[in-house]
Amino acid sequence: MTKTTQTKTYHAGPMLCMQGQGVVKGYAIGKAVVMGVTALEVDHYRISPETVSAECERLRNAMAAARDELRRLAETLPADAPRELGPLLTVHSLLLDDSTLIGQVCDLITHQHYNAEWALTTQGQLLEEQFAIMSDDYLRERGSDIRQVIERVLRVLSGTSGSAIHDLDTPDSGESLIVVARDISPTDMLRLRDGRFSAFLTDLGGPASHTAIVARSMNVPAVVGLGHFRGLVRDGDMLVVDGFTGSVLVNPSPYILDEYVQRQADFLRERQELVRLRDAPAVTIDGVAVELHANIEQPDEARLALDAGADGIGLFRTEFLFMNRRELPSEEEQFNAYADVVRVMQGRPVTIRTLDVGADKGLDEDVVVATNPALGLRAIRYCLANPEVFVTQLRALLRASRFGHIRILIPMLTNVHEVHEVRQALQAAKEQLMAHGHDAAFDVSLGAMVETPATAIAIEPFAETLDFLSIGTNDLIQYTLAVDRGDGEVAHLYDPLHPAVLRLIANVINAGERYGIPVAMCGEMAGSAELARLLLGLGLTSFSMHPQQLLDVKKEITGAHSTALRAAVASALNRSERIHLSALD
Ligand code: PEP
Ligand code: MG
Repeated sequence: MTKTTQTKTYHAGPMLCMQGQGVVKGYAIGKAVVMGVTALEVDHYRISPETVSAECERLRNAMAAARDELRRLAETLPADAPRELGPLLTVHSLLLDDSTLIGQVCDLITHQHYNAEWALTTQGQLLEEQFAIMSDDYLRERGSDIRQVIERVLRVLSGTSGSAIHDLDTPDSGESLIVVARDISPTDMLRLRDGRFSAFLTDLGGPASHTAIVARSMNVPAVVGLGHFRGLVRDGDMLVVDGFTGSVLVNPSPYILDEYVQRQADFLRERQELVRLRDAPAVTIDGVAVELHANIEQPDEARLALDAGADGIGLFRTEFLFMNRRELPSEEEQFNAYADVVRVMQGRPVTIRTLDVGADKGLDEDVVVATNPALGLRAIRYCLANPEVFVTQLRALLRASRFGHIRILIPMLTNVHEVHEVRQALQAAKEQLMAHGHDAAFDVSLGAMVETPATAIAIEPFAETLDFLSIGTNDLIQYTLAVDRGDGEVAHLYDPLHPAVLRLIANVINAGERYGIPVAMCGEMAGSAELARLLLGLGLTSFSMHPQQLLDVKKEITGAHSTALRAAVASALNRSERIHLSALD
């Protein structure tokens, strides 16, 4: 996907270096293509009182035209479009239908005599500010939906196409091109999926933004949150993108450009060498076989897992099927999604986690703001409090299990009685299916995410009653160290190597060995090549991670000696010492 640079000629503008957040690793060197009209560029003028009704009519017509465009887009979505796009287009259409929004904008035209564009951006900014102060991360990011809808109407008003990328509809010249945008809507992102672009840069967005999600699935380097970068760059400027550090250089000196050409070549060579490992077994030097599974958020990512040589799906985060929409997915929709993944994985195990909502992952219907959402009604607690939602999901999972090997994974279990309640719900789902003529041989295993210190410490009853365990280190670290995993202010305290965290992980792995049940890890720690030796030393033999990370981790495993690592890690843990990774090389 990454295009190499063939030319060293570059625009002679001033050199500039900007820092954003790298959300997809890799390097890109290419010419800037700056995306079109945004809310920042509209004309602001006052209209005469006689033209008020004509101006309101102009606004209504533009909104209707934007709605038509969205309808056409929804009807022509390609088969490989991310699943969330259909519902997202519906949300955008509903915003355009919102009579309150139209009324408020017309009020500004009528009483303040603003032109339609000015009235629309003023009202849009007000709404965006209301979203920006919401405490829920997910809802906060929904402010971008308002912005994207408003920019679509602005483009209609300005007579350009409804897409911000109309100016990019040029044939592929073979040149390396880098998109620079204020924000990229998911629909525009779709039109950019054709391999013409080497990187994506946006002023707005975070790691959970749609730009980041789609760029990750395209495996194209991306940097988001660049501030006012778009206003500082011109079409044709030479850009260097470092997706590792999040830095972007504009018109660098030939010396720096050479350096990055070299880094890009080294990176691509390393990736190519790694591909050779795809079909190699993940076995340590001393013969310990390790399973490498993939984490996915959308059914279509199962293909990436298979291409990377994954032994199965270790974590399917099903909540992404439930988010960004007004109605929950039906049993049928869920069944199709789960069955798709199972079929793609051709008999390999597929571990599907039941709905893990709450905290940073809210549903659109959630309006209650908990005082401490990370400790509130989330994950299995939400499901047990909403049995209809839970049992519907379980029915879909049981039906999909006919097509292969499904393992049901329960998030945030803390009490053994929750396991009993889950089993009752599972039984209810089976009985309902049987009452509707499905026969009884549903073959699923049941496992727990170990994400709270309580479960990791008192693990025995879980190991005794369940079929497998999977350690969710992202939450386990947050709850053990009392550090919010999404709060940049305390990020320096979020420490996977803290002795308390490592002891809890060791405790869970040891219990798995004693009770003879498999223990996997599906938190971010499992995808870090730097930590692979440490985890082997703790006795971990099943890792689950983003498909892109799989070969890096496999390389570490094939070069490691498990017995020696286990002895070194056990002795450090016994001495309560902080482990130094360099001591495990
Ligand atoms: C975890 O907590 O480690 C985990 C895998 O779940 P999530 O990141 O979805 O909370
Ligand atoms: Mg978790």
